[in-house]
Amino acid sequence: MRWWRAIFEKLRADIRLAMICLLGALAAITILPFAALRAANGQWTAVVIDVLVVAVIAGNALFAWRTGRTRLAGSTVVVLVTIGCVGIQVALGLEGLLWVYTVMIANFMLGPRLLAMAANLALMASPFLLPAGFPAPDAQATFLATAALVTLYGFIFSWLVAFHHSQMEALATRDALTGTANRRVMETEVPQAVATHHSRRLPAGLAVLDLDHFKLVNDQHGHDAGDRVLVAFAEILRRNLRKSDRLYRFGGEEFAVLFPATDRDGVEVVLEKLLQRIREELRGPSGPVRASIGAAMLTGDDDWSSWMMRADGALYQAKRTGRDRICIEGDRRCSPERCAGSA
Ligand code: GH3
Ligand code: MG
Ligand code: MG
Repeated sequence: MRWWRAIFEKLRADIRLAMICLLGALAAITILPFAALRAANGQWTAVVIDVLVVAVIAGNALFAWRTGRTRLAGSTVVVLVTIGCVGIQVALGLEGLLWVYTVMIANFMLGPRLLAMAANLALMASPFLLPAGFPAPDAQATFLATAALVTLYGFIFSWLVAFHHSQMEALATRDALTGTANRRVMETEVPQAVATHHSRRLPAGLAVLDLDHFKLVNDQHGHDAGDRVLVAFAEILRRNLRKSDRLYRFGGEEFAVLFPATDRDGVEVVLEKLLQRIREELRGPSGPVRASIGAAMLTGDDDWSSWMMRADGALYQAKRTGRDRICIEGDRRCSPERCAGSA
């Protein structure tokens, strides 16, 4: 049953892929019996359209499964199935029109909202372009009103799903207090960065930052005062990092920064600037709050945990040699006997 579990896990990890596969399977199960019925009735144009629609849906599901390009696959299904839906109206007249509502809803489940909207508008116009047309003006008005409502409901529903999805994603990936990416994100992104930088042979740095004597702030002024310092600390870090740098809060008062495609000098320049800003700007209720920073450059032998351990070791050296300073692994300034700090 391992393969079954692997399929389930893959679908669970990608909601759009799950949607494409599920709707694809349902469409095939529903449409193919109609194709058989129409073949029995000799309605060969409808048979061809039904089979083509099922082939397009199945082909796209396969493409999405293999390549992971679910956005492209979803958009392609929207366009082609909408064309198929117009085709079935040409072939069957009003009977074909009954499929419009199903396709309108599926469009919102499979494709980007604006594309689904455009496809549904085309579907609303399509019966008016057919030679047979509608039997009565009342039916036209009813069709327009019901199709517009289905489209509106689909639009609102898909917007709500996207909104809740982004909220859930923020809850799962953001630290609630400081708004920075959390440990979970770090544990996904840093290993990815290790793999990318190894394969492209690019330098990268990882820094760990920790407030000095932070426990005192909490002990003397309470947890809320400590929280405010943490928020201000994260804000200073965010403001002074480059766009490409990634900031994570991975422990209580510990933050990490990933410096992609940056050599040792580059890492040092950014960290010196950070330390300076912290000295100038970070204040607690009883005066300045300082931080220590440890960093390590990625080596060829590293996996992400060994890299992290080396950055953590450098932080330990920064603490041990007096705090309020930067130690980059391998830096002679970090050895206890030589340390004058970077102050
Ligand atoms: P050092 O200079 O050696 O780092 O000393 P420290 O007192 O900063 O270090 P330590 O790691 O012993 O203490 C960290 C403190 O951070 C302990 C804990 O009360 C506090 N802390 C952790 N998370 C939070 C938080 O979310 N809010 C507040 N206010 N305090 C926190
Ligand atoms: Mg700490
Ligand atoms: Mg500390």
